[in-house]
Amino acid sequence: MTPTELHVPFNRAGMLGREMAYVTEAMSTGVMDGDGQFTRQAGELLAGLTKAQHVLLTTSCTHALELAALLLDLNPGDEVIMPSFTFPSTANAFALRGAVPVFVDCRADTLNIDERLIEAAVTERTRAIVVVHYAGVGCAMEEIQRIADRHGISVIEDNAHGLAGAYRGRPLGSFGALAAQSFHSTKNVHCGEGGALLINNPDLVERAEMIRDKGTNRNEYFRRKVDKYRWVSLGSSYLLSDLLAAFLSAQLEALPTIQARRHAVWNAYHEGLAVWAGDNGVVRPTVPADCLHSGHIYYLLLPDQTVRKAFLEHLARQGIKATFHYQPLHQAPAGERFGRCAPEGCPISTRVADQLVRLPLYSNMTDAEAARVVAAITDFVVS
Ligand SMILES: *Cc1c(COP(=O)(O)O)cnc(C)c1O
Repeated sequence: MTPTELHVPFNRAGMLGREMAYVTEAMSTGVMDGDGQFTRQAGELLAGLTKAQHVLLTTSCTHALELAALLLDLNPGDEVIMPSFTFPSTANAFALRGAVPVFVDCRADTLNIDERLIEAAVTERTRAIVVVHYAGVGCAMEEIQRIADRHGISVIEDNAHGLAGAYRGRPLGSFGALAAQSFHSTKNVHCGEGGALLINNPDLVERAEMIRDKGTNRNEYFRRKVDKYRWVSLGSSYLLSDLLAAFLSAQLEALPTIQARRHAVWNAYHEGLAVWAGDNGVVRPTVPADCLHSGHIYYLLLPDQTVRKAFLEHLARQGIKATFHYQPLHQAPAGERFGRCAPEGCPISTRVADQLVRLPLYSNMTDAEAARVVAAITDFVVS
């Protein structure tokens, strides 16, 4: 085999359906800014899938989270509870408003925020709980919602991993007052860069549209509700171009194909690595019975950082690109500066950050590529 045949990348941004045709069509209409025909189409597909009451496409998940933070009207010193084991944007969006991210540890089984530790982190300054459905496995949303209700605070889902996943039969993204999606090219459904804010509280829709549209009431003007549009609130430019929405529409239409492939690879890893993992003290992902996972990430927990380094080098020698993440936010320079840990600390986040490996997983990955990864891994012996 030639070296290129041997190579298995970590991610390959896929085109599975009518992306090219839709982008061409969007260009030919001449509407290339936001809120055109494909924005409507992608929004409807997303609403159908997530059961969200209202969908606003945005330029990224990071921007959808910033929009959520603006909608909360946070004041400096307000606190937002979230996991430490997540991507920086989860915290950054709220820190930008002067709020303090309060980091709670994750569960050792799902790596999701540990719902049993949340209530101890609530203070009179707490305004919201942000959850991340890690790897597309749902957090304990009923328990978390009960805690939020007891304290009169909002739940926000960073649902970057969770599209097409469900918890107790309900789609991820439909639990929080607000949920943020990512369509970055590493996510299940993508348009290069993009995102969406799902809004499950109708009172927030009008303000959300204004914030997304540079703080203006331009949308009301187009609907002829006002005779001129003006600067009416804080806001920014978070609207996705219709060209990207066209690409996104094609991806959303291809979702069944995307999910079937991702689940096939996920299952091939899970079954193919069961014996090897048991023999080598390696932990495979846990999916609780009440969760339908999204097939976003397949990860392994190796015994320690030294073994992980040797493991990644072993795969790299065979042309296989695996990676690791997250550097826990409570130990990150900006996390220490802008946030703080909940009283119990985040020891599990610190430990799994040293152990975790993400295997290649993308929407056009072949069975042969998955088999090659499994073969390379089962060749590795933890000494
Ligand atoms: C990818 C990701 C983001 C950021 O998404 P963008 O669309 O690139 O802004 C935020 N949170 C989590 C958990 C992510 O995985």
